[in-house]
Amino acid sequence: MNLIFLGAPGAGKGTQAENVSEKYNLPAVSTGNMLREAVKNGTEAGLKAKSYMDAGDLVPDEVVIGILKDRIALDDAKKGFILDGFPRTVEQAEALERMGVTIDKVVNIHVSDQRIIDRMSGRRVCADCGASYHIEYKPTSAEGVCDLCKGSVVLRDDDKPETVLARLKTYHEKTAPLIEFYESRGKLRTVEGQIEINDTTRLTFEALEK
Ligand code: AMP
Repeated sequence: MNLIFLGAPGAGKGTQAENVSEKYNLPAVSTGNMLREAVKNGTEAGLKAKSYMDAGDLVPDEVVIGILKDRIALDDAKKGFILDGFPRTVEQAEALERMGVTIDKVVNIHVSDQRIIDRMSGRRVCADCGASYHIEYKPTSAEGVCDLCKGSVVLRDDDKPETVLARLKTYHEKTAPLIEFYESRGKLRTVEGQIEINDTTRLTFEALEK
């Protein structure tokens, strides 16, 4: 089973992708996490990606598509995978189709812009393993320490308020057209993002069973 999570930055794609990953035992593949890792390690892809990420823009397709292709070719993705943050443009969705990847369902998590802006200020991420948290809705057990790997949990550079607005603009211009793209293919399942994460998780599982 191959799934995609769509939604604005901060809508909860990463969190729900992790939940579905556990339940269905499929790897969650986050291009954002892979790009942050590449930046941290100073790889060629990371060097190319950094300035775009810092500005809230999309990283060029040739960088992202290459990373994604290599990841889904690994053994653990043979039985299926959950994409979080890819595709982000119609061109990327078409590239997936050209790779021969069949998508079973696309979960679109809808959250209003105002709520996104409110939420992003409380979002935190583990600098080591990429796990996502929120100071109010999904806090770590010990402050600033990742529950999973004990790494430090930090505010992402691109979650700073000025960058969040740029990322939302990018989302509306370039990513939102994918809603129509997957709707027309009969794959789209829209979930209204809830205040409580567990409520969104329940709706997500229901949407996957439809
Ligand atoms: P995310 O963690 O998914 O919010 O991604 C963080 C940043 O990584 C985005 O703002 C983009 O700069 C970049 N990025 C992640 N996925 C993609 C993608 N599929 N295409 C282009 N840029 C991406």
